[in-house]
Amino acid sequence: MTQPEQFDVIVMGLGVGGEEVAGRLAEAGLAVLGIERGLVGGECPYWGCIPSKMMIRAANALVEAARVDQLAGRATVTPDWAPVAARIRDEATANWDDKRAADRFVGKGGRLVRGTGRLVGPGLVQVGDDVFRARRGVVIGTGSSPVIPPIEGLAGTPYWTNHDAVELTELPASVAVLGGGAIGLELAQVFARFGVRVSVVEGSDRLLAMEEPESSELATAALRADGVEIHTGMRTERVSHDKDGFTLYLAGDGTVRADRLLVATGRRAHLEELGLESVGLDPAQRYLGTDDRMRVADGIWAVGDVTGHGAFTHIAMYEAGIVIQDILSGGGAESRGDDRVLPRADYRALPRVTFTDPEIGAVGLTERQARDRGFTIRVGQTRLPDSSRGWIHKVGNEGFIKLIEDAERGILIGATSAGPSGGEVLGALAVAVHGEVPVATLRQMIYAYPTFHRAIGDAVNNLK
Ligand SMILES: Cc1cc2nc3c(=O)[nH]c(=O)nc-3n(C[C@H](O)[C@H](O)[C@H](O)COP(=O)(O)OP(=O)(O)OC[C@H]3O[C@@H](n4cnc5c(N)ncnc54)[C@H](O)[C@@H]3O)c2cc1C
Repeated sequence: MTQPEQFDVIVMGLGVGGEEVAGRLAEAGLAVLGIERGLVGGECPYWGCIPSKMMIRAANALVEAARVDQLAGRATVTPDWAPVAARIRDEATANWDDKRAADRFVGKGGRLVRGTGRLVGPGLVQVGDDVFRARRGVVIGTGSSPVIPPIEGLAGTPYWTNHDAVELTELPASVAVLGGGAIGLELAQVFARFGVRVSVVEGSDRLLAMEEPESSELATAALRADGVEIHTGMRTERVSHDKDGFTLYLAGDGTVRADRLLVATGRRAHLEELGLESVGLDPAQRYLGTDDRMRVADGIWAVGDVTGHGAFTHIAMYEAGIVIQDILSGGGAESRGDDRVLPRADYRALPRVTFTDPEIGAVGLTERQARDRGFTIRVGQTRLPDSSRGWIHKVGNEGFIKLIEDAERGILIGATSAGPSGGEVLGALAVAVHGEVPVATLRQMIYAYPTFHRAIGDAVNNLK
């Protein structure tokens, strides 16, 4: 029997996290095998963050132009999807071709194998008929894919996922969006701003159910202002599709009809296909549990969506950094170095941004989460339209800052920043939560006038 080809590290899945780990370890001189069954780079550059933000940039430009009427004269805009589709095809994805990313990895000294990787024993990964051995360990960065809910009639219909939405070359007249989370809302607003009739159906009683109730209210008002029909607290019991499009039958007797149906009801990792049982791990888990060095087991690390710490590119990159340092320091199956100085994963200050207009950024705990965890808290809020910059901004100035203080320690443990540039303003709040900056210090700080972030000072003064 031929011996499996050997590498120092095998990386399964070269999405955001896996590509970073594989590339940096190869640059550091390790023998690295990267296995990818789709496109090197993963979801974010081809069907996620980047193309969706290009769509949002275009849709927001349309609405900004329309706001001229209230600020600077008259503007007439004629929406056209063609430049958006062309930009995504040509600038973002090179027509969904990963040659540059693949060449970049190989140029760093990595070996790329295309196909589906599966663990077949400790340090052993199979791709097709080939088995490879990892001397130091295996890194799993296999990401996530859309959850398709088990709604009667849905399977087998030509529903869209984010892939179809991003690859669109022509807009339909109407779209129903199943799911009122970040991805569903961002895409719903884009389509509405391009003149598509959009309905959002969400089973929870509010949009962005994981965020502050004020964020849900703001998102609901913003989408309604764009003409989006919103159904919250509505379970979809059945879906049918015929030549005229989709019909969603909601609990009660409501229906929603649309030409197209976008399913955006969350994402899940597919652990059942990874061969985890061959290394003594349970393939029926939802996510790969890790320690704070991203170690799943001896000689196995995980990064990104598959770990369940938050489906964000910045989480995948953050975790990749921890894995890289752990491996380069000698961590792994064969040797364990002195790891006292290595970074440990810490999700206290996890930032997330829903890129609707207004943007809704949040970091750390919501008020509810803080109370549920037993913190004694103070809450401080301020409305953006009441700030100088919000008042100057006028049309499109909706938003707020909300702060959650751990009253015993006198530090922020959560914050929401919603409004124009809400995601950018969030940066200051993320520093405060991450760095445990005393609220007394935030109170003494000088906030530039008239910025949106100056409203943080107002919210700090309102903590009670
Ligand atoms: C529409 C949309 C918008 C988003 N917007 C944002 C945003 O604005 N900001 C943000 O931070 N995040 C955003 N995200 C989330 C972000 O894209 C993901 O969190 C990120 O891509 C996760 O990276 P990853 O490395 O875990 O996995 P992925 O990027 O999903 O990559 C996993 C890779 O593994 C490959 N793979 C899977 N199984 C195997 C196997 N067995 N063998 C070989 N290869 C395999 C897949 O083909 C894939 O290329 C968005 C996602 C979507 C869908």
